[in-house]
Amino acid sequence: MKKTVTTLADGRELIYYDSADDTVRDAVDPRPLDAVSTSSEIRRDPLLGDSVAIASHRQGRTYHPPADECPLCPSREGRHSEIPDTEYDVAVFENRFPSLAGDSGRCEVVCFTSDHDVSFAGLSEEQAALVLEAWTDRTADLAELPQVAQVFCFENRGAEIGVTLGHPHGQIYGYPFVTPRTEQMFRSMESHRAGTGRNLFDDVVARELADGERVVLEGEHWVAFVPYAAHWPYEVHLHPRRRVPDLRELDEAARTEFPQVYLELLRRFDRIFGPGEPPTPYISAWHQAPFRAPGREEFALHLELFTIRRTSGKLKFLAGSESGMNVFINDVPPEAAAQRLREVASE
Ligand SMILES: [Zn+2]
Repeated sequence: MKKTVTTLADGRELIYYDSADDTVRDAVDPRPLDAVSTSSEIRRDPLLGDSVAIASHRQGRTYHPPADECPLCPSREGRHSEIPDTEYDVAVFENRFPSLAGDSGRCEVVCFTSDHDVSFAGLSEEQAALVLEAWTDRTADLAELPQVAQVFCFENRGAEIGVTLGHPHGQIYGYPFVTPRTEQMFRSMESHRAGTGRNLFDDVVARELADGERVVLEGEHWVAFVPYAAHWPYEVHLHPRRRVPDLRELDEAARTEFPQVYLELLRRFDRIFGPGEPPTPYISAWHQAPFRAPGREEFALHLELFTIRRTSGKLKFLAGSESGMNVFINDVPPEAAAQRLREVASE
């Protein structure tokens, strides 16, 4: 893998990740861009004790551009995008419309491939391995920034999720605080340790494997299951068998197997609702330990993949109970979801 760090016309960082070690990336961004002005502000909610990023500049962001104006496609003669080169393997750049910036953290865009018309599920194992390298390297780089407490690599796929650009891409948020979900997991982890002397994540994975009813697939180094109390209609948690706190600590064997396992999961997601159905909208979310949290070694890196589609043509909306009270109501029993995700396997 070769990494080339460069800057765009307005000073934002652009990083190329290439499979071939001899790739040269020297294309210059010729656009007359104004410096990025962001007004992102973190406000604390006194009742809930959580934080909201107020980011009014995002209202002006690129919204469903036509394919020939895609800002994530490589540049070509007369049409300059966010990527100055005429092709790329994986490219990461600082978001021009960040939710978090400066002292409030950092937002990056990860372009998975220069091919506009493919989805992650359509990447080769080699391409998916390069994306994993990029996620890992970004986590390592952002860990060095004092204003970043936690790194979140994720992909929103599908217009139903609110994706405004069709090009296959994900995002990386470097939060300036520990997120509420992670804080909650730490509280659960600590009380489980206090009560049993054991690690919560180890016990959860062991229980799913012993039970077996919700296991979706098992690799030599990874295991995927629908959690016992899944919140979403189809939700899968993917854990490395050897528990590690973040992407940087995955061993070579787990890295090597990851593309195969993850691509299989994504391809099954697209088959859940049967042939003729448009691609399944999903959110794919890496959970990593915050960098400076006490007890971070106890945390388990894992990926949570879920769709908001509950049945053909119908979405699960976060309505009164979910949005008003944080109580999820799931119409699809986790055991049935797991059964479906097993029966749509490739072989
Ligand atoms: Zn594109």
